[in-house]
Amino acid sequence: MTGPNTRWLSAGLMAVVALAWFGSSSMADEKLKALIVDGQNNHQWMKTTPILRKILEDSGRFSVEVATSPAKGQGIESFGPDFSQYDVVVSNYNGEPWPEETKKAFEKYVSEGGGVSIVHAANNAFPEWEAYNEMIGLGWRGPGFGDRVTLSDQGQTVRTAKGDGPGAGHGPQHEYQVVIRDKKHPITAGLPSEWMHAQDELYHGQRGPAANMTILATAYSAADQRGTAAHEPMLWVIPYGKGRVFTTVLGHADYSMKCVGFITTLLRGTEWAATGKVTLTEIPDDFPTADTVSARDNLP
Ligand code: ZN
Repeated sequence: MTGPNTRWLSAGLMAVVALAWFGSSSMADEKLKALIVDGQNNHQWMKTTPILRKILEDSGRFSVEVATSPAKGQGIESFGPDFSQYDVVVSNYNGEPWPEETKKAFEKYVSEGGGVSIVHAANNAFPEWEAYNEMIGLGWRGPGFGDRVTLSDQGQTVRTAKGDGPGAGHGPQHEYQVVIRDKKHPITAGLPSEWMHAQDELYHGQRGPAANMTILATAYSAADQRGTAAHEPMLWVIPYGKGRVFTTVLGHADYSMKCVGFITTLLRGTEWAATGKVTLTEIPDDFPTADTVSARDNLP
């Protein structure tokens, strides 16, 4: 059959095909722009930044650039990435204070809606920077710096006042179980409620203003691992202005970051920091179980 009806039908079909085509190609262009910040750290950032980068890129959700600061004593005054060009800043930085102008630009970026993903020792950085302490909530600080927050066996928040109890520390590295405490938050929704994390430091006694914190996961800091016999926060989020800050204190070394639990929560946390939503909801087949570690060997 030929005639006007068929022509209209095929024109309509072509429009649908074109829409689908452009729709999918523009989706591909809509990767979130992540900036990893590094250059100074008392950890092996030269080894771990490529891992963070590959985790983010392999997800297909992020394009990644890296801003490396001058080395210690080599001119940090000149360090000033244009944060506003990115959806999320992933910090692998623990070093000299940034110049005032850079700190102000970072505060503006976050308060106007930017995302921040803090990895492990990045929460050791900048004790004297008030806005940064608000963003991270808890940092690697002494007991007199601020409050401490842990969870009870029942999952209630326990706040220990400034000056009481231990300050920041960790025992020997070991494998330990991470326990999801917020099953509704997009970052942790659907994840197994306990998973065994690969060898890592287990941070305890973190201190800070700890305002507006949502604790997503904890780990039990066992006394026989020179810990605190308390459930210490491992993953949490804090709003800052219109922006969002995700912190993971997991990820001391390359082998800690290869844990599929670390990878999954870093991706979800970083996506949530960037957009307030999580589309990376699929749980990998190789996600660790409650008692068995699972690590990827395809990372640098
Ligand atoms: Zn460490």
